[in-house]
Amino acid sequence: MTELLSVVVPVYNEREMLPRFHSRMLSVLDALDMSADLLYVDDGSNDGSSEWLDAEQATDARIAVLRLSRNFGKEAAMSAGFDYAGGDAVVVIDADLQDPPELIPTLIEHWREGFDVVYATRESRDGESWLKRKSAAIFYRLMDRLSDVPIPRDTGDFRLLSRRAVDALAKLREQHRYMKGLYAWIGYPQKAVPYAREARTSGRSKWSYWRLWNLAIEGITSFSAAPLKLATWLGLFTSVMAFAYGLLFLLRTLFFGNPVPGYPSLMVVILFLGGVQLVCLGIIGEYLARTYNESKARQLYFVMDYRPSGDLPLRQTEREPMVEKSMFTQHSAEP
Ligand code: UDP
Ligand code: MG
Repeated sequence: MTELLSVVVPVYNEREMLPRFHSRMLSVLDALDMSADLLYVDDGSNDGSSEWLDAEQATDARIAVLRLSRNFGKEAAMSAGFDYAGGDAVVVIDADLQDPPELIPTLIEHWREGFDVVYATRESRDGESWLKRKSAAIFYRLMDRLSDVPIPRDTGDFRLLSRRAVDALAKLREQHRYMKGLYAWIGYPQKAVPYAREARTSGRSKWSYWRLWNLAIEGITSFSAAPLKLATWLGLFTSVMAFAYGLLFLLRTLFFGNPVPGYPSLMVVILFLGGVQLVCLGIIGEYLARTYNESKARQLYFVMDYRPSGDLPLRQTEREPMVEKSMFTQHSAEP
């Protein structure tokens, strides 16, 4: 049986980019020495991407379309793609052509050398603002310090995963999915392939600074409990300071009497301590909220519609999604 490569593409409102992406992708797949299929995960698009995908799927046997019941976000869309991808190797790639499909043969090469996770590392970040580059650098450095597993920096989701890596990933069903961390967490031999990241040529990035900030919080809280310890240290530090301050006052009162100069310093201390306490409560809250979400153990996504690829190797249609059937109670079309 020949090897099969599945390419997973999360798509959310990429109508403008899709035709260009698709033709570039196909020319790469055509040149491969293995069979390949293309699984588009339509993450609740509402700009005509869905219609375009359906039309294309009807004409090309290599295309599969998995439609989610609403916009669940890229992380969930990718997880859905992993669950449904049937290949011996699975590539995840953005639909906006920021990840060059031409790199895929190189990824496959390293996979054949025995690497389970072959990820593309950005060499340049063309078209991104200074602020975005700078904040990304700070975030990666912070993550390095805090996380228990080393998470490669300047790495997006663009990568190739072996079958066992995909299977391992499918077992991690946490709600808060910081994918870059999860890829690293599963272990297995990993390999970096550097490339130049292009600027988005059309459409726009769905990552506002606010979303990036949230992603950063997600990354840190998913892979480190260090902020919780910070609260302890902060408390200890302020206690020591307060004690020293108190001693100072005691001595001053003993030697110079007390002309009641207390009000401003009292305010400062009260406000400072109040602030510290609120910050610490906030940190605890972040973790508590995540514990709460995980404890609900909701499904990661619901599938509205699945159109498998056509006449590709049997296994493609035979293969069950990685998770149990019961996870897909709201199926309209069984894979
Ligand atoms: N995407 C998605 N669901 C979302 C947001 C984005 O499936 O809620 C897809 C999007 O269509 C694209 C990829 O994820 O294929 C990356 O999105 P984007 O370019 O906005 O992110 P960036 O390149 O800035 O990381
Ligand atoms: Mg992009």
